[in-house]
Amino acid sequence: MINFTPPNRTKRRKALGSVPTTKQKIYEEGDNFFHPITALDESSWLTNHKTGEQSVELYSRCNFNPIQKQKRNKIYLWMIQSRVQNTNAPDLNIIVEYLTAFYYPTTVKTLECDKELKVTSRMHQGHRQLLVPDILDALQKIIPQDAYCLIGVTMVDLYPRDEWNFVFGTARLKDRVGVFSFARYQASFYDEHEKEDPNMLLYRSCRVCSHEIGHTFSITHCVYYNCLMNGSNSLEESDQRCCQLCPVCLKKLQMCIGFDEIERYEHLLEFYSKYENIFAKEKAWVQRRLAFVKQ
Ligand SMILES: [Zn+2]
Ligand SMILES: [Zn+2]
Repeated sequence: MINFTPPNRTKRRKALGSVPTTKQKIYEEGDNFFHPITALDESSWLTNHKTGEQSVELYSRCNFNPIQKQKRNKIYLWMIQSRVQNTNAPDLNIIVEYLTAFYYPTTVKTLECDKELKVTSRMHQGHRQLLVPDILDALQKIIPQDAYCLIGVTMVDLYPRDEWNFVFGTARLKDRVGVFSFARYQASFYDEHEKEDPNMLLYRSCRVCSHEIGHTFSITHCVYYNCLMNGSNSLEESDQRCCQLCPVCLKKLQMCIGFDEIERYEHLLEFYSKYENIFAKEKAWVQRRLAFVKQ
């Protein structure tokens, strides 16, 4: 077990680095917005994975690709069709709508492609699983010219190689492709008699897609706050993960995709208000945050 000590306030400030005077408020912690990482136990990500600190300063030296300066500037999502159709699948258009607000002003689109992938599969503990490298190879063949990245999503469980039980998802950042499965976000995955909550599945799917796309912008796992970019070892840990970016991760994203922070929050508020039955907590958070940063 790794002995991880959450960084204190001074360390968190240092990780953020200097902020222009006009933006002090935007990157200020404030009261009760961002919580330090607590309650680590032997099953937590941080006590099982050596996670290096990526301060804003380190990020600025990591050769991230500012998306606005590139011709390849669109994020594509593609629901991988499989022989096992799953009626629980979340509405990809709503996920795209969410990501459009979250990654404002980047264009996020679904890929229109009805190609049936030839992917190795197996049965494992009663679930069909798809072999990840096969999917990534196939995605590389169909990635559009103007894609910053192509993310395949699927309702079928995934495995990276024979010895592994499963994986939630993985990406080949250099090749700009990734794949993620929503299979384990369904209650019925663990107990077939369990009634599915489509709103919960959509909520989790939005959260995981926004997290994974964060990695495509070279943002590594966050060790500073309870933040969207925290690593997670289990569904339980991922459910504790917050949907928002902490000041450190927000700053990195701002450097990479370039946005007005207030406009971004306003787009998020619009989305959360439209789907208030699912995102009530996030709506309240972003409303409170907007009021704080505009003070
Ligand atoms: Zn991650
Ligand atoms: Zn963070």
